Amino acid sequence: MNESIFGIKKDQYFMNIALEQARIALKFKEVPVGAIVVNQNGDIVSQAHNRVEQNYSQAAHAEIEAIRYATRELKNWRLDWHWIYVTLEPCPMCMGCIQLSRFAGLVYAASSYEKTVLDRDCFSWLYNKNKIVIISGIQQIDSSELLQSFFQQKRTIKERSSEEYKRDKDAFDKGSG
Ligand SMILES: [Zn+2]
Repeated sequence: MNESIFGIKKDQYFMNIALEQARIALKFKEVPVGAIVVNQNGDIVSQAHNRVEQNYSQAAHAEIEAIRYATRELKNWRLDWHWIYVTLEPCPMCMGCIQLSRFAGLVYAASSYEKTVLDRDCFSWLYNKNKIVIISGIQQIDSSELLQSFFQQKRTIKERSSEEYKRDKDAFDKGSG
């Protein structure tokens, strides 16, 4: 399946909103990743961007932030029938949280560089608990370009040591979705 229950046009629309969030993250010098939560009627419940630097928290990935906002809004941690749109393939931490939140579906744009996160066997038990529909590649080029421009910019800032850059890049590659 290459589209959600909302259809491809809506998927592109929702992903563009997640991309707007990713661009906000970029303004704060965060890795540009955005996420939104949508209910079964196609209403947007929450929008968030990566806030790791702003919150001094490695847990403040866009997905976790969007889920927190949504559950607070709904006063319910169970997000059955909801869909989450993310501009980058989720890392294991976020994938775990998505599964535990009981989302019906996940749509993401760019694949993580390692391309292993969602293939790992360690997630099979979570998948058995909650059969989530996963759709990838929606607005992939826009998201990839945004991420690439972020890392290119970082590379050109001469004040930063190459070591520091490598550390950030490695951290990102490990899945800072
Ligand atoms: Zn993550």
